[in-house]
Amino acid sequence: MTDAQDAVIRVIDLTRTFYVGDMAVPALQGVTFTIERGEFVAIMGASGSGKSTLMGILGCLDRPTAGEYFFEGIGVSGLDEPDLARLRSERLGFVFQSFNLLPRTNALENVMLPLFYSETAEHTRAAREQRARKALAQMDIANKEKSTSGQLSGGQQQRVAIARALINEPAVLLADEPTGNLDSKTSHEIMETLLTLNREQGVTIILVTHEVDIAAYADRVITMRDGRIVADEHPARADMALRKEQTPEPAMHGRKAASNRRNGAASWYFSTMVISVALQAIGRNKMRSMLTTLGVFIGVAALIAMVAVGQGANEAVQKRIASLGTNLIVVLPGATTTGGLRAGFGSASTLTVNDARAIRREDPAAAQVSYLIRQSGQTQYANQNWTTIIQGVAPNYPPITNWQIAAGRGISEEDDQGAALVAVLGQTVYRQLFGANGSAIGATILVKGVPLRVVGLLAAKGQSGFGQDQDDLVMIPFTTAERRVLGVASPTQQTTTSWVYLPPTNPFGIQPRLTGFVNQIYVQAASPDDVQKTIDQVTETLTRQHRLMPGDLPDFSVRNLSQIATAAQGSSQIMALLLAAVASISLLVGGIGIMNILLVSVTERTREIGLRMAIGARRRQVLLQFLIEAVFLSGMGGAAGILGGVAISEIISLVGGWPTRILTSAIVGGFLFSAAVGIFFGYYPARKAARLDPIDALRYE
Ligand code: ADP
Ligand code: MG
Repeated sequence: MTDAQDAVIRVIDLTRTFYVGDMAVPALQGVTFTIERGEFVAIMGASGSGKSTLMGILGCLDRPTAGEYFFEGIGVSGLDEPDLARLRSERLGFVFQSFNLLPRTNALENVMLPLFYSETAEHTRAAREQRARKALAQMDIANKEKSTSGQLSGGQQQRVAIARALINEPAVLLADEPTGNLDSKTSHEIMETLLTLNREQGVTIILVTHEVDIAAYADRVITMRDGRIVADEHPARADMALRKEQTPEPAMHGRKAASNRRNGAASWYFSTMVISVALQAIGRNKMRSMLTTLGVFIGVAALIAMVAVGQGANEAVQKRIASLGTNLIVVLPGATTTGGLRAGFGSASTLTVNDARAIRREDPAAAQVSYLIRQSGQTQYANQNWTTIIQGVAPNYPPITNWQIAAGRGISEEDDQGAALVAVLGQTVYRQLFGANGSAIGATILVKGVPLRVVGLLAAKGQSGFGQDQDDLVMIPFTTAERRVLGVASPTQQTTTSWVYLPPTNPFGIQPRLTGFVNQIYVQAASPDDVQKTIDQVTETLTRQHRLMPGDLPDFSVRNLSQIATAAQGSSQIMALLLAAVASISLLVGGIGIMNILLVSVTERTREIGLRMAIGARRRQVLLQFLIEAVFLSGMGGAAGILGGVAISEIISLVGGWPTRILTSAIVGGFLFSAAVGIFFGYYPARKAARLDPIDALRYE
């Protein structure tokens, strides 16, 4: 009768010792028995006699300290974690005293749960539902499939739990005090159900109870005391043989083959389950989840805004350079030393027209050379006046710096040679003096009191990207500026001339005229590749012109425009840096917040994790479940952060006047970054969940 072929469970000299501190608790002290297919066994004994410990080992949730355990002839001690999980999933069913249904999940879904961890289950949801309905019908609660555990009585909950345990058609049903929480009428109903399962479907049942009338349903009663078997009786031995004949043999070989079939569809279903579980967990604590994602939200928003500000500034610079010509080099006067004091930058010009001529003459890499003097001063027309920048320019200055003529004409060679009293207006000055529609060409305006005829209007260049109005200027011929309007190229001279307090007139008509000085020299390189060569040649020429000795501080500086633009970029870089700091701190704090909440969640759901493991979840699957929850949390924060970031950059550009530019790569990057935060900070709690000991997790209160 006990031929090894049909022994579903065989344990030999099983011991299990727990350690509490340094005290050893011998829960099992040498247990040996064999259970055959189709048996209905009750394990009895006083509380603390080791029944639950034994069930944990039989259920492959716990390992013995010593001894052998064979399940269907296979030595369990040689199996690794995935194999044990598969045994639990496919060959074992668990029923607990406390039912362990998932809260806020309906009966049908509770019953379907083990299918998600099974490799052999059907792959369509319809088929799975059908199977779960069948199991529910078998337990006589088909009408309760939409009810959650809170809406079911204890007996109904236990029926759902038994349906769940049976859904994968296990060889053995392990029930640890399944009637412990039920009244006696319900208890007997449940026992009748179990008996029917055993009799009609041949399910091997091992049941723990300490009630004699419950144990009476079983054919065999094993009694334990202090971790040992003290009695093993077959009160109803007579009909065992009869029943054994009827027991349908499960198709073992077919199952084995099927279990090796790893199917993409199965893992797809697992993923959808994991995602829906993650969403449920998040949705269950909406407020908590929202607060958790706040850090990531702020971080990603700051990140997006930072990139937008940085990129916007960058593009403004590029545009500016392009608007002036990429080949352009500017020579600026440097500091001069007067009386031992180094005066500030541009205090008096050290550059002259002769310098410009020398560059034009001697530097082959320079295609064009131009120069200007500049001062701020007042312009006047009729009763309108406007203080602006007055530029005395060489005739080739507007074309090489990309100034277009919108109306009339520009400054000609003849104007310059004859120091003609003409002016070309920038759009802003034109608007200020003539209003929006006035005709300016041919009108005579006063520039620093000198009457000049307007011959042309410059096309608008607009804001410089840093909030400067480039159109607020008047251009006049260089010679006119030098001889008649500005007089001296030194910017240290009073530049805001007041027309109320006129400067004292010179009684002898002698004006100190420092002619020949310029404020800037513009050199256009022959091609963009020649820019560096041109800079070198210009530097050399000016060093010679100014008779600088080696070691002297140069009194000029030669820069290409991108250098100047980069310097102007500084302020937006500070803004970007600030945002970067906010972003990184926020993401860190957000990540820690997610980790914290997930740790709480793992603790809250310890029993659920234990249950999932008991019904066949592998550690990897538990890990994945929590990791996905973390990624969902951070991903949601990230998605919201992207919207927030776009809004912030819009506000920055609207209110602050900063140029901003949203990049698709920043959006994608922000999203990936938030997901990475989820993975990074979610890993620790997820691993903690995956590493839980199933038996401890199930016992967790
Ligand atoms: P039963 O289910 O028969 O009431 P258990 O198998 O739960 O008994 O426990 C048997 C003995 O092992 C008890 O003395 C219990 O305190 C001890 N025990 C069970 N689990 C643990 C554990 N995880 N750590 C320490 N002691 C344990
Ligand atoms: Mg117990």
